[in-house]
Amino acid sequence: MIIVMKRSASEQDITTMIHEVEARGLKANVIRGTERTVIAAVGEERVAGIGSLESGPGVDEVLPILAPYKLASRELQPESSTVQAGSLTVGNGQIGVIAGPCSVESEEQIVTTAQAVRAAGASALRGGAFKPRTSPYSFQGLKEEGLQLLAEARRQTGLAVVTEVVSPEDVELVVEYADVLQIGARNMQNYRLLEAVGKSPRAVLLKRGPSATIDEWLLAAEYILDAGNDQVMLCERGIRTFETHTRFTLPLASVPYVQQRTHLPVVIDPSHGTGHTYLVPAMAQAAIAAGADGLIVEVHPHPEQAQSDGYQSLNFAEYEAMMAACQKIAGAMEKHLGML
Ligand code: PEP
Ligand code: MN
Repeated sequence: MIIVMKRSASEQDITTMIHEVEARGLKANVIRGTERTVIAAVGEERVAGIGSLESGPGVDEVLPILAPYKLASRELQPESSTVQAGSLTVGNGQIGVIAGPCSVESEEQIVTTAQAVRAAGASALRGGAFKPRTSPYSFQGLKEEGLQLLAEARRQTGLAVVTEVVSPEDVELVVEYADVLQIGARNMQNYRLLEAVGKSPRAVLLKRGPSATIDEWLLAAEYILDAGNDQVMLCERGIRTFETHTRFTLPLASVPYVQQRTHLPVVIDPSHGTGHTYLVPAMAQAAIAAGADGLIVEVHPHPEQAQSDGYQSLNFAEYEAMMAACQKIAGAMEKHLGML
């Protein structure tokens, strides 16, 4: 339920209503908008006495939240959310650009990439230290050493670090080094992991599972929000279809669809979404034209030598050209791209 408070409601009224909600065994989430305050009463709504909340002090109306996801829904929070983590801003007219290699491989690789993407306007550095690989024989990442190298690249460039965490036990360690915790597509429905990052003090980039419906994806985001973390970005990275010419199928309609139903910023991953370097710039531009709030793009100094995902990574010159093309689209959308 959403308890919409009157404009004239006092702090005392709001506190009283929070207690009333909690007394019914529901969780009260207070959202203070520019216009008025609403209290989201989340939990089992068929509890007795819910209707009587409408006669509480300072209450304007009590409405059901129709979407299965509550805290993520626009019904609850009409204003779009912005995520801020160090140098990275995503939302509110700012298109965050997260660029870097699929995997952190060496100090030279990650630092030179950070410098190159920073010079071409990236707002954050990506790089996997813990890699969830389809095959157990593929490179699994440098783990803590990789995190240390990411921190060194941040020290040298000022770029915020976005890196994946693959298990709840690793959250504490990754939080020490990262500015944004990435939840990979394969882990979108790892609910213990979602709860763990929801309790962490870091922003979260939640990738869509390749076979997940949008409702499942938004309910996964709901786990993180419900655990108390409101710094959540959704990342569309492509889904599995019958098509085999692209690695995944990248549905850009997700951008306006999700933006209509939720207040969370949406980031597009044209690298995993296509699986081919030559398709990445066009889909990055299309994502911005569709209204995306951010991009996450794989960039490597020598894609042909990459330990993972080289076939979909841009080299520095290609990245620079992509940013120049994206900048034109961002201008037409009256938005700022990365740190350009
Ligand atoms: C990645 O970002 O390198 C990655 C493994 O992505 P996804 O989880 O979307 O497959
Ligand atoms: Mn990758």
